[in-house]
Parts: sequence; C-alpha cells; structure tokens
Amino acid sequence: MTNAELFIHESDYPDLNIPSATARLQGALRFKTVSHTDPALTDQRPFEALHAFLRESYPRLSARATWETIGHSLLITLPGADAALRPALLMAHQDVVPVIPGTEAVWRHGPFSGDLEDGYIWGRGAMDIKQMLIAIMESAEYWLDRGRTFRRTLYLAFGEDEESASQGAAAIARTLAARGVTLEYVLDEGSGDVMDAADYGAPGTLVCTIGLYEKGYGDLRLRASSRGGHSSNPFHGTSLGDLARAMTAILDHMPPPRMSDAVRRTLLTLGPRITEMPMAQWARDPQRYEKEILDWFCARESLYHQVRTTAAPTMITGGAPAANVMPRDMQAVINLRMIPEDTPDALLGRFRAAVGDRVQLDWLQQISASVPSDPEAYGYRRLRETLERYFDRLVFIPVQNKGATDARQYERLCRCVLRFGPFLEEEDISREGIHGVNERISVRAFAQGIRVLTHLIETTCLSNGAAE
Ligand SMILES: [Zn+2]
Repeated sequence: MTNAELFIHESDYPDLNIPSATARLQGALRFKTVSHTDPALTDQRPFEALHAFLRESYPRLSARATWETIGHSLLITLPGADAALRPALLMAHQDVVPVIPGTEAVWRHGPFSGDLEDGYIWGRGAMDIKQMLIAIMESAEYWLDRGRTFRRTLYLAFGEDEESASQGAAAIARTLAARGVTLEYVLDEGSGDVMDAADYGAPGTLVCTIGLYEKGYGDLRLRASSRGGHSSNPFHGTSLGDLARAMTAILDHMPPPRMSDAVRRTLLTLGPRITEMPMAQWARDPQRYEKEILDWFCARESLYHQVRTTAAPTMITGGAPAANVMPRDMQAVINLRMIPEDTPDALLGRFRAAVGDRVQLDWLQQISASVPSDPEAYGYRRLRETLERYFDRLVFIPVQNKGATDARQYERLCRCVLRFGPFLEEEDISREGIHGVNERISVRAFAQGIRVLTHLIETTCLSNGAAE
C-alpha cells in the first residue's frame, strides 16, 4: 500500500489553486539557500532573494502581516482580534543542506531546478522543508484572500540555519520572549513515519507518529593511560584493559527505562486495537503494568529507544602498534541518546561512580533532552483531529523525535511544541531525497499538506473556530 492511498477529503477547499502553489514551490526551490556550520561560508544573497520572492508571491500577507527579518530569519505576524488567546506559531526553515559533492550527476533533475515533471516537484528542499514553508504561506494567504479575520494571532517563523547552527530560530524565540509572548502551540517539521503497529501488539493497525520532544545527545569520552612497555609484565594492567572494564561498567549501569507520557498516551490511544495478549490487558492500565510494559518495549528494536537512554560505544583510539607492546594513552567515545529523566550531569555522576578513578570521563559535547510537550494539550488534539480528517486509517501517536530541529528553541514559550510535517510522501522517495539525492515531492502530497495546514489554521485561528 502507498501513502497516497491514505489521502482522503482531497476535494476540501476546491478553490485552493494547487497549480499556482506548485509554481511558487518551484520558484522557492531555485534559491540556493544552503547553510553551513560556519556562518561565514553561507551566501546570504539567496536568502534575501527568497524573502523578496515571498513578499511578491503573497500580496495579502505582504499587506496585512508584519514582516521582520532577524538576521536572515523571517518572523511574520498576523495579528488576531482576541488578545486573550495565546498565539499559534507555524514554522519551517529556509535553509537546505548542500548537494553531496560527486552526486550531482545522479540527480535526474538539477537540485536547484525546481522542475515539475510527472507529478513531482524536484529540488533540494522539496521534502526538507521548503514545501512546508510554502504550504504555510499558501494556507495563511488563502484565508486572507477570502476576507476571513483571525481571532488568534498567528506567527509564521522561518529560521535560516536549522541544518547547521539553529541560531535563527533561537533569535526569533528570544525576540518573542522579550515581548512577553507565550504560545498556544507550535508546529514544526519532523516525524510522520507510517508503520504497522505489530510491535505494540496491534498488527494490521497503521500508526503515524507526531513528535513531542527530542532526546538529548551526548558524546562521552573515556580516557586511560598506562606506562606502556613489554607485555610480558602487565603487573599494573594496561589502558586498554581499563577502558574495556570502564566501558562494560557503563553499559551495565545504565539508568532504568521510564514510561513517558507519550508511551502512556500511545497505549491508551491504541487501546482496543491491541489484540495481542498480554499487551491487550496491560495497555488498559499502563500505570499498573508499567514494569511489564517497559520490559515489552525494551525487548523490541523499534520501541526500546522510546523508553530508555541508549549508549553506543563508537570510537577507540591509541592501541599499541604491536601485539606484544602495551599501549599508553587511549581514549574511547560512547554516544548517548538521553530521555528527559536522565540529565547529562546525573549520568556523568552515575558513570563515574561505576567506573572508579582509573579512567577519566567527560563530555565532548552534550545537550539535554528537550521538554516533552503535553499530548493532551489543545494544539495536539486539534492537529490530531485535522490529520484524521485527511489521512484515512492512520492512528496518530505521540513519540519522541529522532532528529533535532529548530523546534526546541520555542519550548520555553510553549508547552505544546509539535513536530509533524503533514506531507506523507512515499517512504522510499523520502529516504532517497532527504539530505540525499533526487529530492522531490509529489504535487499530490504537497497539496494534501496544504489542506492540512489550511484546516488547522481554520480550526485554531479563525473567528469561527479558535475557541476550545
Ligand atoms: Zn529540516
């Protein structure tokens, strides 16, 4: 089955001009808004050209909204009539990753061609994530064009460096924080994986994931030294032996798994669809069967990382040049992905206690997990209802996000920061295209995403729909 077979209500908003929206996405893809980790390498002119293109392409937004550029990031404010309602914020990023050198010839259409052929729009950014940027603009323009008033203020926020430093989104969030803004909900890219729920005990049910937060990331360095020398007298041990013992101690002393709100909500949502025993019974009362459920998750490759901090030893350097020589200074790295309950500080203390003092531990880099959004919040419920309208047979479940996005920058302004790009392109096409080659999106998936956003704006921001 293809994802496109799940699309329903494609006749909603029949006056949406999809060919024009397609042409505008093609136009946006032609700007080489490539961002680099070193901002000095980023050519700013394509960003300025993209801004001019957007202003020209969306005359109602241009006239009625406030446009601010913060660096080269864009904050567009559509003021709502009801100041008592917290604003909503829809986001995407303007930048794209570079084309991988040497793959240019593999692209069937130029990565900055914006070509339209056989129902696909081609170019770097077609899936990540200019389609979302343009779809957000199309949806807001659509309602302005029909003379509708906004009851809730709507922000459109487009960072300039999500793929590198994420400074643009941070600057927008700081600007809003300085103005005392708190937000009802934020929607960013991410998640949207469709899969069979067999691992949850619900075979035959299709689930689709909405990201609520991001796991933390850490590179833990282990360092050990020994005096070296001939291996016939290893009385004091070797640095390699110490590292091996330390590594084992860390892996054996990982913190226990935890049940998150997202997992609890997922099980309650799947509820009656879970047919496999004993999960069918446990899922009815996740609180009571927490231990059993955690064991079930930990035993499954697709689920265990949802409930626990993971540790992957990845690097070791400094071994001796010969089998009969003892090594001297060595180091190893363990890559950790942390759930919110496990902070980098607490983990470091825990590991030091387990390892002892023959091996030094420190973080090469670390960032805590982001703040989990509330799966009961207004924004989550409205998004889920909207998605259920446009995608048949899918059960939407909250998860932690795999990758990091700009979204975490807004968490201090909002308790409902959702990661979901409503563009359900076929899996093989996304896999090949995102940060890869032949990035493209079907006009059909793009159009359905516009309908989702148009509906979400209608039900959460316009005068007839913004109330609870
Ligand atoms: Zn992205």
